[in-house]
Amino acid sequence: MITLGIEWAFELFSNRPSRPRSGRGQAPAYAVVTRVVSSTPKPFILPKSTPSAIMPAHPGEYTALRRSLLAWYAKHARSLPWRGTNDPYKIWVSEIMLQQTTTQTVVGYFDRFVMRFPSVQDLAAAKLDEVQRHWEGLGYYRRCTQMHEAAQEIVAKFGGVFPDSMWAIRSLPGIGRYTAGAIASIAFDRREAILEANTLRLHARLTGLRADPTQRDANETLWDFAQQILPAKHPGKFNQALMDLGRMICLPKKPRCKDCPVTKFCDAFRQNLQDSIPHRKAKAENIARTEIALLVQRRKRILVIRYPDGERWAKLWDFPRSEMTVENFADIAQDAKLLESLSLMTGRKLSVGPRLATLKHSVTKYRITLHFCEGHDHGRVNQANTSHDAALSDRPYETRWVTAEEMRLLPLHSTARRLAESVSDTGTQAKLGQSE
Ligand code: SF4
Repeated sequence: MITLGIEWAFELFSNRPSRPRSGRGQAPAYAVVTRVVSSTPKPFILPKSTPSAIMPAHPGEYTALRRSLLAWYAKHARSLPWRGTNDPYKIWVSEIMLQQTTTQTVVGYFDRFVMRFPSVQDLAAAKLDEVQRHWEGLGYYRRCTQMHEAAQEIVAKFGGVFPDSMWAIRSLPGIGRYTAGAIASIAFDRREAILEANTLRLHARLTGLRADPTQRDANETLWDFAQQILPAKHPGKFNQALMDLGRMICLPKKPRCKDCPVTKFCDAFRQNLQDSIPHRKAKAENIARTEIALLVQRRKRILVIRYPDGERWAKLWDFPRSEMTVENFADIAQDAKLLESLSLMTGRKLSVGPRLATLKHSVTKYRITLHFCEGHDHGRVNQANTSHDAALSDRPYETRWVTAEEMRLLPLHSTARRLAESVSDTGTQAKLGQSE
């Protein structure tokens, strides 16, 4: 049996915002406690019992932290293709690509993407299929469809000019608080905070936050802190410096405190709590799941389906695919739920033939074993007036019969691409070969 390992994580998106709270970015909502200035900067301290309130440092301490950080950044800033621009479109593309994806992976994709779609107008005018092809392999495909929608909204509502207010930026599909803050601060020099994985960890340690930083109050505390420490001048540069410091020095495990420019401001360092801050949630358990994908052929054409909105891989194409609900593959012919699901998806009566290959991959908490099998088509499902057929009439999946070559031109998710590459135009399995 052939086993391939493909890793995915899950796609995380912020909801669209409500209107921003009044006064955000100005006076903080908590009471100010004045601190006596000493010659040695003090760490920023969060009272342990009330994690939602920061005891603010004297403004001089923030100034010293900013200086130390920016001096370090001047020497150590990462060189990235989206750095050194204030084009909000390019900053937006990079920030969306970087969500849940490593910088190293994004670099190649970013260059190709902005070369093909150099402006928001080009992206809005492109067909979604083509945009998805340029996204393929990055995962979390909803980001791509939302970017396409957002580009069309920018053209329709803002005359093709990227909006510069936080409210307008956050009203666009797929743009949450962090991404909006990054665009507003880097492209428009607005004093807007950011909080993503690296800065969340950094700020939790600087402030000595004991609570789970993803918990609402604690998270809001870190947003407030991120807002307070922002300088009035060049907040975008400062935000990028914070991200680089979190990414390069304040590492999740074994932070490089001896190389850190802000050690003297760090409460976790002062108390030797770097390893226990931020508080880590227990990891969700992985769930094993087995799925079947079918290679159904008719006159040298392959049956493909397109996932509807709201499903994982929305708008991407695939072989008909569903969960196996019997325990053993040997009993697959008796898996009535699987067969019903496949017929609801395709509008056709299908049966499962021999197994061609097996792939293993992960999607969010699911560890998926995917059996790729020959499928047999027994024609359209009877349109008699049964509840099953009523469901069929609402079938949200688009289906097509395509050649192997045509299938390779469709936007596919990674496993579907892998399987499609293995199917030749003569309809035989070329590259994955026979399974056991
Ligand atoms: S001193 Fe250590 S824990 Fe504190 S911010 Fe710097 S690297 Fe992170």
